[in-house]
Amino acid sequence: MRVIDEVLAANQTYATTFQKGPLPLPPARQLAIVVCMDARIDPTRALGLEEGDAHVIRNAGGRMVEALRSLAISQQLLSTQAVMVIHHTECGMLTFTDADLRARLRESLGADADHIAFLPFQDLDGSVRADIATYRASPIVRQDVSVRGFIYDVQTGGLHEVV
Ligand code: ZN
Repeated sequence: MRVIDEVLAANQTYATTFQKGPLPLPPARQLAIVVCMDARIDPTRALGLEEGDAHVIRNAGGRMVEALRSLAISQQLLSTQAVMVIHHTECGMLTFTDADLRARLRESLGADADHIAFLPFQDLDGSVRADIATYRASPIVRQDVSVRGFIYDVQTGGLHEVV
């Protein structure tokens, strides 16, 4: 795959004009965002964020259970005070089931993934609500900070609040 060489070339150009080296480690705006890894979403641009402003924790679906470890570190060591959960329209997580992916892994890699939950969902609002509930049930994240859940529309670029 040439793509890694291509992005390395782009990085060389980027680094020639880079001036954000002195930024402090803790996010300036004390915000942590859990958001799907979908390639169509650019959370920093969509939310008006700059380097140094926020933690952006990404995974398939923007699922909370997979983000709790990072949020605990973000809150305890780096002082974030607000959490956004962002799922989105046309998410790939709406298109398969655990059984589908387990069968695919068995066929393509010979892997036994029957014990792994890949966390797909059928209902966007429901998945946001479930992830806020997962947050609320976790003892390792702060319950005294603002925690809000949203759906991002990949067609319009807009967010709407679910919970
Ligand atoms: Zn997605």
